[in-house]
Amino acid sequence: MKEYQIIILGGGASGSMCALSCSQKSIAIIDNNNKIAKKLLATGNGRCNITNKNISSKFYNRDIDHYYSRFDNEKTLDFFEKIGLVCYCDEDGRFYPLSNTAKSVTSVIENGLQKKGVDLFLEEKVLSIEKEGNGYKITTDKDCYVCNKIVLAMGKIDNEIIKNLDLKSSPLMPSLVGLKGDVSRGLANIKVKNVLVRAYLNTGACKQDKGEVLFKENGLSGIVIFNVSTIFSRYKQFNGKLVINLLPDFGVKDLYKMLKERTKLDVPIPKFFDGLFASAIGYEILTRSKIDENKNSLDLTKEEILKLCDIIQNLDFKVKGYLDNAQVVSGGFDLNDFDENLQSKRNPNLYICGEICDVDGECGGYNLQWAWTSGFIVGQSL
Ligand SMILES: Cc1cc2nc3c(=O)[nH]c(=O)nc-3n(C[C@H](O)[C@H](O)[C@H](O)COP(=O)(O)OP(=O)(O)OC[C@H]3O[C@@H](n4cnc5c(N)ncnc54)[C@H](O)[C@@H]3O)c2cc1C
Repeated sequence: MKEYQIIILGGGASGSMCALSCSQKSIAIIDNNNKIAKKLLATGNGRCNITNKNISSKFYNRDIDHYYSRFDNEKTLDFFEKIGLVCYCDEDGRFYPLSNTAKSVTSVIENGLQKKGVDLFLEEKVLSIEKEGNGYKITTDKDCYVCNKIVLAMGKIDNEIIKNLDLKSSPLMPSLVGLKGDVSRGLANIKVKNVLVRAYLNTGACKQDKGEVLFKENGLSGIVIFNVSTIFSRYKQFNGKLVINLLPDFGVKDLYKMLKERTKLDVPIPKFFDGLFASAIGYEILTRSKIDENKNSLDLTKEEILKLCDIIQNLDFKVKGYLDNAQVVSGGFDLNDFDENLQSKRNPNLYICGEICDVDGECGGYNLQWAWTSGFIVGQSL
């Protein structure tokens, strides 16, 4: 049995920040991975989009501005700079390490934890937590621990682990996730840039975003799809449709004019979109239009051109579920059951931080910013 003042369960982004910002001496982190903050290596396509220039509640499922008034993106960047990490901001307002590798982030975290003398118990899985006096007893697959204060930073709630505690959580759903849909085979692996995507629930609720979409064999992916997927996660139903406007910068009249002009190309219909769209996209539009492929572009009627305009600006796909690459979990512990320092109101000396909270944000550094902010607030209050 090992004894600590503070034990943090989960050495991801939030758990590490919690330990780094805590002034206490007796701290341990238990994590089932073989490295601290290992998941960070996969973030931001290996570059770790650490935060964003524009942080506010409008990018999340709930109001968390009062936490950001205590520790925001600028304070996060200052914090990391002090432990050696230099970052830059790209043209979209996303911050990355100057090295463009997430390894730089995990390295400074590792160095910081080592310098602080935080004990790390890696490759060790937490199995259960029980109250013991005013503190807690933790059982792992290797050992037992007791502590005065415990921090849950495991990213995702495991009901088996918390069953002896007085904690309630909302159902977990994947969020920032690719969507399963009826994508025709020819579109697989095609990328379209600068498109507008609108996601509709069957109830009519809608969310839209603009950017890049990647068609997959069984669905759609890419940052824009991740962002609009949050509407399905929030309403806890992955049924509805996606409507893609392939040329959102064109009004209908301008698009009609442009296509009418293209009819003068004097080409067989299958070649009508050559030079405008990737051939798989052109084929998809023409197939949906059911225009006779033996025709020449010169013979396209006004109705047919209008039909093509409509398909180009309203390319729709049924949503039938989600793919298995979720970046975050939506749902978790309701912040209303925790005080302003994220301490449980019903379980004194128990704190939460990071994704385990019912807080989820859009792509762009928002989820890591919540991990840093909540980790810092808990760390400072321990
Ligand atoms: C592919 C991918 C890319 C992403 N890119 C970005 C990005 O660029 N920017 C951004 O803001 N967000 C990004 N995210 C989201 C971001 O990574 C998370 O929001 C963030 O890591 C949450 O931090 P956390 O500390 O709460 O949880 P985690 O980072 O998940 O850490 C939890 C830790 O707890 C450990 N653990 C869990 N259960 C147990 C147990 N029973 N016993 C012991 N240890 C346990 C886990 O091994 C893990 O190390 C991305 C996510 C993914 C999957």
